[in-house]
Amino acid sequence: MKPIVIIGAGISGLQAARLLEIQGANYFLLEKSNKIGGRVQSETVDGFVLDHGFQVLQTAYPEVQRSLDLKKLDLSYFGSGAYVYLTSHFQPFFNPFEKPFAFLRSLGSGLVTAKDLVLLGYVWFRLQRDVEALDGRKETVGELIDRLGFSTNFKSLFLRPFMSGVLLDARLSQPASLFYFYMKQFMEGKAAIPKAGIGAIASQLADIIPTNRIRLEAPVTHISADFVELESGEQLEFSQLILATEAPITSDLLGVSKADVEPLGSETFYFRAKGIYGMEPYLHLMPEGSPLLHFSCLTAIDPHSSLKGDYLFSATSLTIGISSEEIKRILADHLGVPASDFQFIKSFPIPHSLWRVSDFQTLKKEAEKRNIVLAGDYTQFPSLQAALSSGRLAAETVLEKVQ
Ligand SMILES: Cc1cc2nc3c(=O)[nH]c(=O)nc-3n(C[C@H](O)[C@H](O)[C@H](O)COP(=O)(O)OP(=O)(O)OC[C@H]3O[C@@H](n4cnc5c(N)ncnc54)[C@H](O)[C@@H]3O)c2cc1C
Repeated sequence: MKPIVIIGAGISGLQAARLLEIQGANYFLLEKSNKIGGRVQSETVDGFVLDHGFQVLQTAYPEVQRSLDLKKLDLSYFGSGAYVYLTSHFQPFFNPFEKPFAFLRSLGSGLVTAKDLVLLGYVWFRLQRDVEALDGRKETVGELIDRLGFSTNFKSLFLRPFMSGVLLDARLSQPASLFYFYMKQFMEGKAAIPKAGIGAIASQLADIIPTNRIRLEAPVTHISADFVELESGEQLEFSQLILATEAPITSDLLGVSKADVEPLGSETFYFRAKGIYGMEPYLHLMPEGSPLLHFSCLTAIDPHSSLKGDYLFSATSLTIGISSEEIKRILADHLGVPASDFQFIKSFPIPHSLWRVSDFQTLKKEAEKRNIVLAGDYTQFPSLQAALSSGRLAAETVLEKVQ
């Protein structure tokens, strides 16, 4: 029997391969680059673990609960809430449902009004029901935030920057249902990063996949009815094909137009700092309009990430190409410390961090016509949840077809 072929060893392709392995199927996973993980990568520079872009694992994602061993990932957790910049200082905004008394103390700060509190109660009430990540309605996250009627300060200092960070979308033009979906994740779970970096998620999925089932540096250049062709010219026959590549590459491989593929980019900068400057394990949000979206002291989140008395900071912008000097200056100014305390380590500009949600009809129709199964976050909505879940669905679909 010809093998099942999976193209792309990102989280969705790895998840599909893992499940095929569990079912004892005959399969191969082909990956263009020399490593697994796709957009989920970490590397060690100067002794610090740096993730390729600021990424967190939501422990409440249903597919994360189902597929990952969170204990083995050895997670460090962000506090629920954020510090927001109020004229001249960072003001904590704690999750009112987790730390009600600390939250009440922040009521006089000018960040939240009594009406915001009532509206947060309404959101909480709404989250008690099942929340669909995508409900098909046309309203955007930005329009929903405006319609709900929160105060100007709460919107521009917390809600809009926070959701821009989650969606990597300053315009907040993703579907409004995602606002409720992510709020539910933040309320019911925690935002975490593995001590070994976000790349540990890919390694864990790959743990049970024998190395002879994965072929690295094997870019697929052409897909025909029953074989794929690699850049080397080698042809590999398949019984079923799972295409787990990014949306634009999927378009190319299927030979359809990229019309509905819109990327959302980001750049994350890492600095080694002389102090922790009293920072707590929370995301620090910059006001709307700042070139810097947010920053965190990663050493406050995981104390093991200090090195020879130096501390690790990450800072993320949605604009690619701002100089590290400029980011360092903004960071230092807002913390009220000398810029010389920060030493730039490395930045990760990622133009295709996420995709704007679309129904990707052209892709899906073409794949269906050719009996190809698609996986990848873009087939649902951009997230680790969707990558894992689409990989599972793809594996289940091909297993049904080959039986
Ligand atoms: C900066 C950043 C921040 C993020 N933050 C979060 C977050 O906080 N929370 C969250 O849930 N999600 C986050 N995400 C999204 C999450 O990382 C992705 O949803 C997920 O990794 C996508 O996995 P995938 O398998 O769908 O695609 P990919 O990871 O893109 O995998 C596709 C794979 O296909 C391979 N490939 C491409 N072409 C070929 C070819 N021709 N032949 C063979 N192989 C090929 C690629 O090399 C790649 O390995 C973030 C992503 C980024 C980049």
